[in-house]
Amino acid sequence: MMEIDFLKNKGNLESLVAEKGKQSLLLHACCAPCSSSVIETLLPFFHITVFFFNPNIYPREEFFRRLSELEIFLPRAFPEVKLIAAGENFHDNEIFAEKNTGYNVSFNEILGKFSEEREGGKRCENCFYSRMMPTALLAERAKFPFWTTTLSVSPHKNADLINRIGMEIQNAAGFGETTRFLPANFKKNDGFKRSLELSREYGLYRQNYCGCLFSKRKAEDRSKNERPATEASSYRLC
Ligand code: SF4
Repeated sequence: MMEIDFLKNKGNLESLVAEKGKQSLLLHACCAPCSSSVIETLLPFFHITVFFFNPNIYPREEFFRRLSELEIFLPRAFPEVKLIAAGENFHDNEIFAEKNTGYNVSFNEILGKFSEEREGGKRCENCFYSRMMPTALLAERAKFPFWTTTLSVSPHKNADLINRIGMEIQNAAGFGETTRFLPANFKKNDGFKRSLELSREYGLYRQNYCGCLFSKRKAEDRSKNERPATEASSYRLC
């Protein structure tokens, strides 16, 4: 298995491309700003298909807004990148997962169980898992040799945790060599900064909360006590 954080060990991927040509990768993505710099980083190595699978996003209007932005952004910035969207709201995502991967995700259950958790705790860990597991299963079924997620590009997200979940899914699911998780910390090497630049360049909608009801409430509380925000702090990559 590749060393944790492929950005530290790009030589592996350069050798892979030299030996086998570009491989296909299924990239879980939660919004256009998160996807922007991650796609730019991965594109020299992979044929990318973006998978928008986010039953965590609340409310429905926000879910649809983030999806629409991605549908407009990708053909403009990266026309060679394909997009699979699991539906037009979080309930559709759950149905999609069950139908196409056999995985039964209930985000309301996660929220119910872990509603008191701080951001970054058990609720988020389960939220990552509930989005990464269907991505892995779809990658396996649709024969993508690689899969990964954009989540680590956010400065608010713990890349070690995301990579640990990815490796656990990979090992527990017994995919063998059919599909492999690509560990990375996409915020490194100015990945987050680059996402700001690309978001500005393409005039992307930038949300001010991560996605779920609780993160939305937190953002509303923050804005009540707000000092003038810097650009980087005024929105949240999800
Ligand atoms: S804060 Fe973000 S990562 Fe955590 S549970 Fe809510 S949507 Fe998921």
